[in-house]
Amino acid sequence: MAGDYVIIDHSYDVVVVGAGGAGLRATLGMAEQGLTTACVTKLFPTRSHTVSAQGGISAALGNMGEDDWRWHAYDTIKGSDWLGDQDAIEYMCREAIPAILELEHYGVPFSRTEQGRIYQRAFGGMTTHFGEGRALRTCAAADRTGHAILHALYQQALKHQAEFFIEFFAIDLIMDAQGVCRGVIALELATGKIHRFRAHLTVLATGGYGRSYFSCTSAHTCTGDGNGMVLRAGLALQDMEFIQFHPTGIYGAGMLITEGVRGEGGYLTNSEGHRFMERYAPHTKDLASRDVVSRAMTVEIREGRGVGPNKDHLYLHLDHLSPQVIHERLPGIAETARIFAGVDVRRDPIPVLPTAHYTMGGIPTNLHGEVVTLRGSDPDSVVPGLMAIGEAACVSVHGANRLGSNSLLDIVVFGRAAAQRAAQIVNGQGSPPPLPRNAAEPALTRLERLRYAKGGEPTAGIRELMQRAMQDCAAVFRDRPTLEEGCSRIAEVYQRFTGVSISDRSLIWNTDLVETLELENLLGCAVTAVESARSRTETRGAHTREDFPERDDRNWLKHTLSWLDASGKVSLGYRPVRLTPLTGEMKSVPPQVRVY
Ligand SMILES: Cc1cc2nc3c(=O)[nH]c(=O)nc-3n(C[C@H](O)[C@H](O)[C@H](O)COP(=O)(O)OP(=O)(O)OC[C@H]3O[C@@H](n4cnc5c(N)ncnc54)[C@H](O)[C@@H]3O)c2cc1C
Repeated sequence: MAGDYVIIDHSYDVVVVGAGGAGLRATLGMAEQGLTTACVTKLFPTRSHTVSAQGGISAALGNMGEDDWRWHAYDTIKGSDWLGDQDAIEYMCREAIPAILELEHYGVPFSRTEQGRIYQRAFGGMTTHFGEGRALRTCAAADRTGHAILHALYQQALKHQAEFFIEFFAIDLIMDAQGVCRGVIALELATGKIHRFRAHLTVLATGGYGRSYFSCTSAHTCTGDGNGMVLRAGLALQDMEFIQFHPTGIYGAGMLITEGVRGEGGYLTNSEGHRFMERYAPHTKDLASRDVVSRAMTVEIREGRGVGPNKDHLYLHLDHLSPQVIHERLPGIAETARIFAGVDVRRDPIPVLPTAHYTMGGIPTNLHGEVVTLRGSDPDSVVPGLMAIGEAACVSVHGANRLGSNSLLDIVVFGRAAAQRAAQIVNGQGSPPPLPRNAAEPALTRLERLRYAKGGEPTAGIRELMQRAMQDCAAVFRDRPTLEEGCSRIAEVYQRFTGVSISDRSLIWNTDLVETLELENLLGCAVTAVESARSRTETRGAHTREDFPERDDRNWLKHTLSWLDASGKVSLGYRPVRLTPLTGEMKSVPPQVRVY
């Protein structure tokens, strides 16, 4: 191996990879409890994708009408199309209430009611009395909720003396021969130095893999890096086939228009000016859950009722809302629509299209954030030293379809849970044991391979082939021929990646190298997603098979597990969904027909 690597060693109780809402909530909680905590992040913390979350964060506070966390849990289970684990869902919905009050005390500037309480808006799939009424459950800081949360958490983490390693790109986990995670290897982007972090616990909070699609609402940095690291460590990912399409991405640009717009009274129309959602979800209409609305929109377009010269999108109206509502509750939306669609929302509708938005699948964990192995006889055995939280993880609370405003909740609740667990695990242990001398070797070998790659194919070209294949073959509607095509196109792209080329060999600010590392991670996500999708012969949540239009609980009430070998071959396994809640405070919700 070329000898120009400068290696710097660090030792902490915990190293958190990622400074989005999940990583920051965990970092803060760990530092608060006296653990020495490093947070390694490729982005400046407040630039993490969490910053763009607009609509809000759910919790049954009941500030604007009656509410109960059990109703929230019921909605989440139904929203997940029964693929969510009910113990984890109970935990999340119950803990939502103290977790939000905690955020308020940390300084999140939530919007307020006349009485000064936290303002709450309607969101898709959120009901009262187990599906009867409409809940006002989503707490919002105007339409900049993620921004507000991220800033408050970052400030709190600094206050508690967490140490940040900013613009450090984590390359791979350090796994020992016994399968224990001992830390992580990172590249410092500004200097090209290699940093070796050893820790009792490593927490992956690296976000989703939305960028495996051509058109998505996620930032360019949502590249599934933690998922890639887990696959390379020989561990499983879970439910990778479930990718949520948000109904209202701006046509052409992909930017998100929050569901909060429909929560405030906005609605969709087709080329005939009809509010078509009335036909698909007579009860909840435009506020049905996201998979339902995205499917309805795709059907409208396919049947020739799309708008625009190519009849390939639809309209979202806010023009009937009072200027005051827009000004106070949706100011960012008015700005986004003006910049990216050239539309004045007070007068004209916004052109929208379902756009890849959220990845339900990820690194399987228990409800303390510990990564579970899922191999062998004990379903609960964990990978010592490794945790995962946030969109990178799959607890699983979102199952086959996430409800809007449940992800900000997930990152805060499970970031907090991971911190509590870390304190129990690390408590009383001295500094982590020294690493074997060659601990950086596998990561450096990979870095070396990509840095000197000269196969002739630029990274951007390979990435686009992957994104197009995912967009064409694994979007809102799927069937066997398109998924077969998707699998073979992604397999081909995977092979092509061995011929990737990097123009610049430098380790310092080499964005070409970083994008290539990211692409390899995305490819791991894409290949496990299409293979998992091809095998699941039913329709559930965001996974809609036209050739298998029904949900099939007899055969498919189970999570998909996927492993990837070095040659790019995926192997699949399954584990049952947990239908038993955590405590006696809530009843199990048996699978039912899912109508909105
Ligand atoms: C446009 C948009 C709007 C949304 N609106 C809402 C909403 O209103 N309500 C809601 O509940 N949900 C919403 N979501 C979903 C929600 O915002 C995300 O799921 C959630 O914020 C993810 O948080 P996270 O902490 O897991 O990851 P992120 O916020 O994506 O952070 C990932 C972190 O990992 C770091 N990282 C990644 N890879 C590496 C690496 N290799 N090395 C070092 N660091 C790395 C990054 O630097 C970053 O700090 C929205 C999502 C989008 C895209």
